[in-house]
Amino acid sequence: MQLLDGKYLSGVLVEEVKVRVAQLTEKGAKVPGLVALLVGENPASQSYVRNKMKLCEKVGFQSKTIRLNADISQEDLLLEVKKLNEDQNVDGFIVQLPLPKHINETEVTLAIDPKKDVDGFHPINFGKMAQGLPCFLPATPFGILQFLERYNIDVSGKKCVVLGRSNIVGSPISILLSRKATPGNATVTLCHSRTKNIEKYTQEADIIVAALGIPNYLKADMVKEGAVIIDVGINRIEDASRKSGYKLVGDVDFESVAPKSSFITPVPGGVGPMTVMSLIMNTMLAAENR
Ligand code: NAD
Repeated sequence: MQLLDGKYLSGVLVEEVKVRVAQLTEKGAKVPGLVALLVGENPASQSYVRNKMKLCEKVGFQSKTIRLNADISQEDLLLEVKKLNEDQNVDGFIVQLPLPKHINETEVTLAIDPKKDVDGFHPINFGKMAQGLPCFLPATPFGILQFLERYNIDVSGKKCVVLGRSNIVGSPISILLSRKATPGNATVTLCHSRTKNIEKYTQEADIIVAALGIPNYLKADMVKEGAVIIDVGINRIEDASRKSGYKLVGDVDFESVAPKSSFITPVPGGVGPMTVMSLIMNTMLAAENR
């Protein structure tokens, strides 16, 4: 079993992006810039945005967090998005999800200029992704592809099972793995909450991507010997032995599944760091495109 180490790989990619920043600025272009719109006080969102800004600093980007009150109106939030669409100093920006309940998330996503949509959530980017055209890939699936590519995991012709069909993970990664591309060319089965006898699919899979948000869902008896396991889940479970009172676990029962796998991502330290890094790579691409 080999660990797919997100911290290590994102460190490698940081160095590569630094070189690209230097190449861009040597040509007289400005330093790439990423802005995060953070609405409200959700602690998890605050921590995600903090990590994104830290990584921007590491690679030498300009970065800024715009904090907005949780009671901001839909109209005012859309105005903020419009300002960022028009700001020439901003290469890319994200609206950190989830948004407060009174905000229509879809409308906000649709308002983002697809050329600055470095989260890759806009339907224009999703559509281009599905057709194999140049675009911003959604961050988590992009990170998963990086793992497969950089660890030389052969995907072509393999049986892949994706658990979960969200717009940001399950659905796009199932499309990406089946595309005529490298990594890709896999035969993909997408399982979801209505799928019956999921273990029938997972037991045959060469590669499993678990993105369903159920702590330790995938057990050893559900996977075959030598499978590649990508655990996207981030779940907080109670742990009285820790100061915080909780610990993070994935959707995969790591202890039982790891010994059977050929490659596996840990949680934390697997897909999470690669998701943040993908955002940085998309912003780099946005700056280069400009
Ligand atoms: P989601 O929470 O929007 O949806 C869950 C999906 O799982 C749905 O498509 C549903 O059909 C499926 N599902 C639910 N119960 C199921 C069951 N019993 N059997 C099969 N399928 C079932 O999905 P999401 O936003 O992709 O999030 C999934 C997990 O990934 C969460 O834990 C989330 O925190 C985590 N996540 C992590 C990252 C990262 O960077 N590591 C990024 C995004 C999401």
